[in-house]
Amino acid sequence: MVRHLYIHVPFCHRICPYCNFYKHTPGGTDQNAFIHSLLAELKMRSRECNLAPETIYMGGGTPTTLSIKHLDKLLEGIADTVDLKALTEWGIEANPATFKRDKAQLMRDSGITRVSLGIQSWTPTTLSTLGRDHSPEDARASFETLRACGFKSLNIDMMFSIPGQSPESWLADLEHTVELSPDHVSAYNLNYEEDTEFFDRLSQGEFQEDTSRDVAFFTHTTEILGQAGFEHYEISNYAKPGHHSKHNSAYWSGADYLGIGPGAFTTFQGTRWRNIANTTEYINQVTRNNLAGLVTEYEHIDAAAFRAERIALQLRTKNGIGMDILAASENKINDLADEGLIKKRDGNIVLTEKGKLLADSVASHLL
Ligand code: SF4
Repeated sequence: MVRHLYIHVPFCHRICPYCNFYKHTPGGTDQNAFIHSLLAELKMRSRECNLAPETIYMGGGTPTTLSIKHLDKLLEGIADTVDLKALTEWGIEANPATFKRDKAQLMRDSGITRVSLGIQSWTPTTLSTLGRDHSPEDARASFETLRACGFKSLNIDMMFSIPGQSPESWLADLEHTVELSPDHVSAYNLNYEEDTEFFDRLSQGEFQEDTSRDVAFFTHTTEILGQAGFEHYEISNYAKPGHHSKHNSAYWSGADYLGIGPGAFTTFQGTRWRNIANTTEYINQVTRNNLAGLVTEYEHIDAAAFRAERIALQLRTKNGIGMDILAASENKINDLADEGLIKKRDGNIVLTEKGKLLADSVASHLL
């Protein structure tokens, strides 16, 4: 049985130069055919995987770029297709200025409990560097609209270590975020991902990575959000009590999940596959009832790969990782503890504050 569902909506009005998700502008895509395909795939796969979701997450792309009519059709179709009795969290990614009160209210009335709003920064110059098409005023208005609709949990996505961003402006961004009293904040260090404009600009020497700057930004983040009452429960995630992301927590713990839509990944009973990352071709294959033709990447996750993923993901969480999963020798663990990077707590290995800054490297030593 699969208890977690992800739905990928690849449309964005504007493409951010640092983003490597599968996304594109809506262009000439037939939106009716797209929604129909998502629901048809969901119907076929949910039987195959015996889906009874406790969490649903709709990401992308930007699902809130869908018109009210199409979003309504999608949300209603999900509720008609899937047994939602066990559902405890239904999340959606949204960008400022892609919805007004009527669309937000539709999401709320359709059962969505959690909205993740991609604000990234409150500083106009930083938003411009990131290629975002919203203003700080748009972001504030969108957040207030969501609050007024009564969603159970609101997350704000923020980003630091952006070219040209000063520590002072990041502090101001954090303070601005705290003022709005969200229930959850995700604060990501900018990554230069391959096949993005930012990666090219880094490769050409126009942008530089700076580890000491990253550390300063991260330290500001943990301090300011900690003082504001957020629990730092994963390296990039901070929650007020009762507002942890259940969907992401399931993913970090290695639970199976079903991914629907172009470019979506599924992990099911020791296998992982990816749907074709081409919306037109995705619609064509679903229309032909050809589930096999949807899958472009398929891998068996053996015990070693599963363990490596567990270590990489769970080590980033507050509860860390159980000793039973680690293959590292006691000496290796003691060495990392002596360096002040990890500590033992309740039978688990957890990162120290210093270790959080070097999480990937610590994980590689624990494999
Ligand atoms: S809005 Fe989000 S998904 Fe779309 S391009 Fe920007 S970062 Fe990527």
